[in-house]
Amino acid sequence: MSALHISQLYKHYQLDAVRVPALIDINLDIQPQRFTVLSGPSGSGKTTLLNLIGCIDKPDSGEIIIAGQQVGKLGDNALADFRSRHIGFIFQNFNLLPVLTAFENIEYPLILTKMPAAKRKARVAQLLDAVGLSDKARNLPGQLSGGQRQRVAIARALATEPQWVLADEPTANLDSQTGAAIIQLMRRMQRELKVSFVFSSHDPQVLAAADDAVFIRDGQLQPMPAKTALGSVDSNNNQQQVAA
Ligand code: ADP
Ligand code: MG
Repeated sequence: MSALHISQLYKHYQLDAVRVPALIDINLDIQPQRFTVLSGPSGSGKTTLLNLIGCIDKPDSGEIIIAGQQVGKLGDNALADFRSRHIGFIFQNFNLLPVLTAFENIEYPLILTKMPAAKRKARVAQLLDAVGLSDKARNLPGQLSGGQRQRVAIARALATEPQWVLADEPTANLDSQTGAAIIQLMRRMQRELKVSFVFSSHDPQVLAAADDAVFIRDGQLQPMPAKTALGSVDSNNNQQQVAA
């Protein structure tokens, strides 16, 4: 499995007459089959970067190669198709479809891939079991707790067996205990399924669980502290780089 490669990536937003630079010359390789955290203060560009990696948005310029594909070269339809086959996304606010049950939310991306029904149902049952929600299959999102909704979202992101799973602040809307359980679940799924996880977060619990960390501030990458320094002492320095 190949690394995720980003070079000379730029992205800005236009707010009326104001040009807001969101990402400035991002050069980055993310290793596959690891748990990588993208950290930085609010407004630093984390969501923008994940959306570009996840082919939800397009850069102004620069290159992203993911799962061996230079995604900037793909047209809209090919990009959507590529995304559905290779990338799973987990959102801060879960983004479940409110009229579908937990089972149906997980099943939905598999229907899009035209997987035969029997195989599909078996896969959803297996995923529900893996995230500990077999008894909630028929519940609508509104009938689930925040942590349970995020479990459904994790199962949905993993349903099509993507190579890369991207999660934008997956624990931000959860209390710390529930957040810790969600991180453990994602860690376990990452190891068992050998997928590559990339998270944005400024949650110290997420940072401590990471294999690799990338720091971003004002749209620019910051020098990376050694993994050994993560979650440990040099707290002044860490604080500055990590806290919201
Ligand atoms: P983060 O996820 O780290 O909080 P974002 O990627 O959401 O950061 O935002 C990066 C910068 O881009 C911020 O200055 C933010 O205000 C700006 N921004 C994000 N989305 C938009 C948008 N749709 N229109 C204008 N500015 C935006
Ligand atoms: Mg964000």
